[in-house]
Amino acid sequence: MGRMSRSFFFATTVLCLLFCSSLLPGQTPQVGETRVAKWKDDRKAAFLLMFDDSWPSHVQVAAPELVKRGLVATFYINPGKGEYLKFATDWQEKLWKQGMVYGNHTMTHKGVKDLENAEWEIGECARIIREMVPGKAERLVSYGQPGVDKDAWNITPAQLEELLKKHHMIDRPPFTGHGAVYHLKTTEEMLALADKAIASGGMEYLVVHGVERTTPRLGYQDFWPLPQAVFFPLLDALKERSDRGDLWITDHISQHQYETERNAAVTKVVEAGEKAIKLQLTTTADPKYYDLPLTWVTRVPAGWKKVKVVHEGKEQKVSVQPDHTVRFDALPDGKLLLLQQEDG
Ligand SMILES: [Zn+2]
Repeated sequence: MGRMSRSFFFATTVLCLLFCSSLLPGQTPQVGETRVAKWKDDRKAAFLLMFDDSWPSHVQVAAPELVKRGLVATFYINPGKGEYLKFATDWQEKLWKQGMVYGNHTMTHKGVKDLENAEWEIGECARIIREMVPGKAERLVSYGQPGVDKDAWNITPAQLEELLKKHHMIDRPPFTGHGAVYHLKTTEEMLALADKAIASGGMEYLVVHGVERTTPRLGYQDFWPLPQAVFFPLLDALKERSDRGDLWITDHISQHQYETERNAAVTKVVEAGEKAIKLQLTTTADPKYYDLPLTWVTRVPAGWKKVKVVHEGKEQKVSVQPDHTVRFDALPDGKLLLLQQEDG
């Protein structure tokens, strides 16, 4: 073998080792084969918008601009703070009805004097949120630690953890590196976070404080106001990524529930035939707190065009993708799920 042909032989062998294994006939997907989607609707990544401190500009600018684009966010509220109380009616009657989700940022944002005071700052805020927004009495609520001076926070990390557990709250990811205006100034810097999540299939988030207000002109802005010239194009670009199926823009608890349930999901193919597929989809996460439907992708027989999904007495109709799969949402409750070809 000459030098050229030897290296050619070597290169072909390496290429085959790299790629041939994925082409073996035994690897063709089987009918019924089901996977849980990494994120809702089989999107590539999750992205969370968070707004802290119940600033008036959240009601005046942020929420209306989100609604315009069909986006949602988590608002970390302080129900005992002056700015909140001034717009209490909007928080109580309006924002959550528009799909916005409330997180716990303590009652007053003044810190905690001792354990008893912490119980009120955190517990009362959680109680108000659960009372204000209809839902299960003990559902999960997101917690965002307020930024206060060290000497204004007088409980230990272990005591905080106990309180969060007691009130069924989930700590959000840290502010570090994710603050609009503080860490990230331009639309491009903020979008880079979203694109990083899309590239890795993970989750990213942005924490916003005030948003610039142009009307009414009050002569002052809320804390760390995010300029509209940065904020509006950011929302447009996020919406575009959502529309093209790359980003799931959601609230912290939904993302947390999805990830927890998905990581503990168990898929069982009970039956897979030419006429029907029967599945049993389960998660080992506690159904009391983890009750968000997950997205599943199932391989169906080649001839199927439209599919009826029957689960718990409810029916949904889904189209078959060119790769002979169907995508549907279902609670991983372990109850039998039936896929059938739709006639006509
Ligand atoms: Zn804050």
